[in-house]
Amino acid sequence: MHRNGADPTNMQPGDFICDFCLTPWDGTFPMVEGHKGSLICGQCLSVAFAEAATSSPSTDPASEPRKCTMCLAEKDGAGWASPLHDAWTCVTCIKRGSGKLHKDPDWDWRKPTGSKAMIDAVNDEDD
Ligand SMILES: [Zn+2]
Ligand SMILES: [Zn+2]
Repeated sequence: MHRNGADPTNMQPGDFICDFCLTPWDGTFPMVEGHKGSLICGQCLSVAFAEAATSSPSTDPASEPRKCTMCLAEKDGAGWASPLHDAWTCVTCIKRGSGKLHKDPDWDWRKPTGSKAMIDAVNDEDD
């Protein structure tokens, strides 16, 4: 998100705040942008990626459609909810953000290992 009161014509790094952990950006860690100024930092993306990799949406009867903070779409599949804040991201956005950061030469960000299926799925989307 953008900091409340930030000047849109003169945005500073600290005006960009992760929607999930509420950490203001200081330029030292990666951030991925969603729709309408929504943001997720590399740290949250790592957690989201690891968690989404272990969940199985199709077999979870409790899953209800939620609005994704990143793409603003209503989704009922797997995703990751912020433990601190009312924010949730769908697995599509997790994959897209992970793929983007993984390829970004500016950041030494790697997809967490541990779920080969999830990593293969992300790699498929890179094509
Ligand atoms: Zn974050
Ligand atoms: Zn989404």
